[in-house]
Amino acid sequence: MSTPQRHAHIGIRPDKDTFLVQENPFEEMMSRFDDAAKRLGLEPGLYQVLRFPEKQIIVSVPVLRDNGTVEVFTGYRVIYNTSRGPAKGGIRFDLQVNLDEVKALAAWMTWKCAVVNLPFGGAKGGVICDPATMSLGELERLTRRYTSGIIDTLGPDSDVPAPDVNTNERVMAWVMDTYSMHKRHTVTAVVTGKPVEMGGSLGRREATGRGCMFVTREALKKLGMPIKGTRVAIQGFGNVGSVAAELMSGLGLTVVAVSDKSGGIHDPKGLNLAEVLKHARDRKLLSDYKGAEHVTNQELLTIDCDVLVPAALENVITDENAKHIKARIICEGANGPTTAAADKILNQKGVFVIPDILANAGGVTVSYFEWVQDRGGYFWDEATVNQRLERIMVQSFDEVTAMAEKHKVDNRIGAYMLAIDRVAAVHRLRGLYA
Ligand code: NAD
Repeated sequence: MSTPQRHAHIGIRPDKDTFLVQENPFEEMMSRFDDAAKRLGLEPGLYQVLRFPEKQIIVSVPVLRDNGTVEVFTGYRVIYNTSRGPAKGGIRFDLQVNLDEVKALAAWMTWKCAVVNLPFGGAKGGVICDPATMSLGELERLTRRYTSGIIDTLGPDSDVPAPDVNTNERVMAWVMDTYSMHKRHTVTAVVTGKPVEMGGSLGRREATGRGCMFVTREALKKLGMPIKGTRVAIQGFGNVGSVAAELMSGLGLTVVAVSDKSGGIHDPKGLNLAEVLKHARDRKLLSDYKGAEHVTNQELLTIDCDVLVPAALENVITDENAKHIKARIICEGANGPTTAAADKILNQKGVFVIPDILANAGGVTVSYFEWVQDRGGYFWDEATVNQRLERIMVQSFDEVTAMAEKHKVDNRIGAYMLAIDRVAAVHRLRGLYA
């Protein structure tokens, strides 16, 4: 999360006009859902049920600013589907937050939890705000008021948030405390991604990047490619990107390029990763890094490499740049980095895409472990967490690729088919509550 600074005035929706012309993430998700549902021969009634979120909450969040004025923010929580268990999904604080995005992310969480076979449904939440312009006190008041606005849906058995863009374990601690104060007792399992001292899980911070490493290793094995010397380029050097870089390098891959929002750095012989990680840990931007050639974020995507890991934003691989991508494998660390139009081009080029709902599912898998540990009151060591994560990621990789091969579809549609099939099976067993 960006360092909170003393604030400048922020408008409620300065980005309104730009986001309206961007690709609609819900439609992007739905186009894949429709394809997978059709191939599965999903019955029309169930198709309708799964096309709509169960619940959409919009709350106004009044916050006392440090200068004595009151500002009202807009917050959302979308519960997409709970047939398989409590809703699970992060909370995002960002100016780009809008209902369609939250709906799409909530649906993705539903499919993601089903792909890795966790007993969870899917949800997502967000508040339209710019945390970089807010003090810590303002952020805490915003978090607590938003939490109390959506408190009726929250609970270890009903809806369990986690961190997402611009929220972190500190924010989760405030959500947990607010919920616990309302309940009159401490409820650790109401959120995941908490600090370890208050019921968080060892290995959670690294889990998404570690999951990316496991599925990339499996993809290399499957394609008969070596690990040693295979070149990887990573867009985004935050939680997911930096951990993926470190662990992939530890495995023997050569990290040739990484980027953050300021731009990228490239060395065809391999970056000095220890130095780059230290640079990032010192909170310096990669544009200030001296030891490598500088590239733009656009250039990074089409750089000469074997594995590309988009681990920053949505919709970065498009029909414009997909034809220039040189990587043989794309491991989607970010949610929704590839547009539906780009999928077709990548498919024609024979690029092996490990789709987001599989590739970045390591995070929610260890969130599940955290929830299990909180409820059991018994905590595992880090080696146990990592072994159990590896088992789930490898098994899910095998199940997704088997589904894709059986139905002669790409891995993304294979993953959607696996997920929708699992969610649909539970709906059929439970029947329709009248
Ligand atoms: P983060 O905030 O820790 O890091 C984001 C990184 O992306 C930073 O290096 C930032 O500088 C960079 N970035 C921002 N804007 C950019 C731009 N325009 N171009 C290039 N880089 C840019 O976030 P994170 O937790 O690493 O999440 C990254 C992605 O992974 C998001 O799509 C998130 O939804 C997804 N994801 C995260 C987790 C998790 O456990 N953290 C789990 C699943 C999916």
